[in-house]
Amino acid sequence: PGVAQLVASRVLDVPDFPKPGIVFKDLMPLFSDGDVFRQVIDEIIKHHGADSFDVVAGVEARGFILAAAVAYATGKGVVPIRKAGKLPRAVFSCSYALEYGEATLEVHQDAFIAGQRVLVLDDVLATGGTAGAALDLVEQAGGTISGFTVPLELSFLNGRDRLTPRTVHAMLTV
Ligand code: 5GP
Repeated sequence: PGVAQLVASRVLDVPDFPKPGIVFKDLMPLFSDGDVFRQVIDEIIKHHGADSFDVVAGVEARGFILAAAVAYATGKGVVPIRKAGKLPRAVFSCSYALEYGEATLEVHQDAFIAGQRVLVLDDVLATGGTAGAALDLVEQAGGTISGFTVPLELSFLNGRDRLTPRTVHAMLTV
């Protein structure tokens, strides 16, 4: 099957998580099956081309899983984009609005060599707030965005529009 069908077949809908009324898309079955996980990682590499990026950045926490695998498979390094207060040295911070309240992502100020081409990975694109902050941080830290991929995009939340003119690669859009 194509990778879109593969993702579709492995996403679990979890009602009322993390709060009542939200249907959380759980991608863990996509990661826990070795053949499927490898196809997802291979598809990310194939889509962008291993020569198009120098380093892979993953957004905490599920983005780390994808980023580490893509980095290893292509012989690149991996950089974490973390939630506030987790990184030990000087950071750049970016706050963004959630449905209620706000969240902050951080990256080490010296995470990238100036001009390094960075492939950014997360598991799900919803409103785009997280991705927007992650991409801004990469640029603030001197990186150049070479691409952004998620296995799953929730199109009804219009995250892609919010990220314009940046392009989003989603394996499956629902
Ligand atoms: P956004 O900032 O685009 O609204 O939300 C995307 C971020 O929240 C991503 O880091 C993603 O991991 C997480 N997220 C939001 N909704 C879901 C969901 O339904 N399933 C999963 N697995 N993650 C989600």
